[in-house]
Amino acid sequence: MPGTSGTHDGGRVALVSGGSRGIGRATVLRLAQEGYDVAFCYGADPEAARSVEKAAADLGGGRVIGRRADVTDAGSVRELVAFTEQELGDIDVAVTSAGITRDNPLLLMKDEDWHQVLDVNLDGTYHVCRAVVFGMMKRKSGCIINISSVAGVYGNATQTNYAASKAGIIGFTRSLAKEAGRYRVRANVVAPGFIETDMTAGLPEKVRDEAAKSIPLRRFGRPEEVADMVAYLVRADYVTGAVFQVDGGIVL
Ligand code: NAP
Repeated sequence: MPGTSGTHDGGRVALVSGGSRGIGRATVLRLAQEGYDVAFCYGADPEAARSVEKAAADLGGGRVIGRRADVTDAGSVRELVAFTEQELGDIDVAVTSAGITRDNPLLLMKDEDWHQVLDVNLDGTYHVCRAVVFGMMKRKSGCIINISSVAGVYGNATQTNYAASKAGIIGFTRSLAKEAGRYRVRANVVAPGFIETDMTAGLPEKVRDEAAKSIPLRRFGRPEEVADMVAYLVRADYVTGAVFQVDGGIVL
């Protein structure tokens, strides 16, 4: 049976955190092309945000607005959600893509790097979901997609902080799916492997080559390939509490 509540027929609204670069950017453009009006936030780089707005305008499709908001700050996220509702309308879809890495073996981990990664990745996801979920439950319709990582599923050396934040996102999202399902709000996780973005651009060539060799498909993924999964989940009316890996078959 085809989906109904997730089927897009114009006038629907999406919010994407971390939409100015990488996976978030590809997601914003994909949803806009599918006709969604999209608000996205970024942390620090307005130029990248303006370039997403321009790319969206060139492609045609829904309206796209970028706004600075710090996902570590609950008030800033609430303000972003209020702005989105005022400019575009009720939020049907929320995608949390804002994320950072601060890699180091645990023995060398600085407290600051531990807390910063948890603050942005896990608290940031909580703040966005907390701010949108009541409206979705009230309207008995909504789709939340949180971006985790294969590191959160399998663990990864030098990423105890990052893997903990990404595993946390999985437990968080599955619990939310159980709480919100009766209100017809779905919550799912996308767990990417190595994707070609600024986040992986800084990896030394040797590490990249080794990583690519460990991937059955023998290459890093593209942000658009993660956005494909997001677009699928937006339509997938009978899918909730699931974790979808987009990783070329990698097992870390
Ligand atoms: P990216 O290219 O580094 O982009 C990160 C985005 O998050 C940017 O838009 C950035 O905006 C925003 N951001 C960072 N801190 C923020 C804050 N405090 N408040 C609001 N926005 C903030 O990252 P990516 O590679 O696309 O990764 C996107 C998500 O996928 C992350 O959650 C990441 O952990 C996950 N992931 C990535 C990979 C990969 O291989 N790339 C693999 C698995 C999972 P500013 O630049 O303006 O701060």
